[in-house]
Amino acid sequence: MGDIIDGKGFAANLRADVAKGVDTFRAQAGRAPGLAVVLVGEDPASTVYVRSKHKACVEAGMESFEHRLPADTAEGDLLSLIGQLNADPAVDGILVQLPLPRHIDELKVIEAIDPDKDVDGFTIGSAGRLATGQDGFVACTPLGCLMLLKDRLGDLSGKSAVIIGRSNIVGKPMAMLLLRESCTVTIAHSRTQDLPAVVRGADIVVAAVGRPEMVRGDWLKPGATVIDVGINRVPADDGKTRLVGDVDFAEAMKVAAAVTPVPGGVGPMTIACLLHNTLTAARRRENIG
Ligand code: NDP
Repeated sequence: MGDIIDGKGFAANLRADVAKGVDTFRAQAGRAPGLAVVLVGEDPASTVYVRSKHKACVEAGMESFEHRLPADTAEGDLLSLIGQLNADPAVDGILVQLPLPRHIDELKVIEAIDPDKDVDGFTIGSAGRLATGQDGFVACTPLGCLMLLKDRLGDLSGKSAVIIGRSNIVGKPMAMLLLRESCTVTIAHSRTQDLPAVVRGADIVVAAVGRPEMVRGDWLKPGATVIDVGINRVPADDGKTRLVGDVDFAEAMKVAAAVTPVPGGVGPMTIACLLHNTLTAARRRENIG
């Protein structure tokens, strides 16, 4: 049997480290790092995410500035709020919770965020900095996956990695991060032919697809390390629902060296990395090492 990678435990330690860093920052800068979170509308999942981000921020000793706007907010009003947050010295990081209502151009809004405050790492500037090896902010979910992989495997150089999924927020930045670590990277997607054979060659598998338990145990190379980003709600035996990943966890555990569970794997790392990025943004803005 493989090991379960305890993302929840790792994330708790990271959050505790960030909280210590926040104390030191406050002593040096005379203020707490600040994160502004903008929510437009009342999408239930987004509301839950924003609430947990606020709670995590406060627990880490940071300032959390919440901006809840009605669903019919005009794009121009949202853009002017982003402009104000860009200019606000108390705000180190800006996060606009996606998805935005249909009448708002998501790309335009994300691009309005100052790259130095882009703690979600979603702007084209941040993606470009990652791709060209410059300092910038890396999207929180792939950053969390990388931390778990390095904690488990140490040096990743020379390992073959297959990432299933090519989204801008997970798959592509994950590929860039693993390339930076000198892995041999393959990005698979819905048009990939014979996906099981592609996955079978990988020392590292990152599944970010959004299809419940798609990756089967017999797709995996024995001894592989498997990071399951997927969050899928499926019917449970008791008539309720349960969360599963993109990987068949029970099957994977029989073949792989280590697997992240869902829940309790990558999910908790995302918020912990948001706090980590916000502290980094604050330090950079105040020139604190
Ligand atoms: P997207 O829907 O944006 O991307 C999914 C990717 O999977 C696409 O590139 C798509 O390929 C590929 N894909 C779809 N079907 C197949 C298939 N049959 N075979 C191979 N590839 C396929 O999703 P996200 O990247 O935003 O999210 C992926 C998953 O991760 C979701 O379950 C999401 O809920 C979860 N997630 C979890 C987070 C966390 O904090 N743990 C954070 C963000 C996301 P193509 O490009 O060809 O369409």
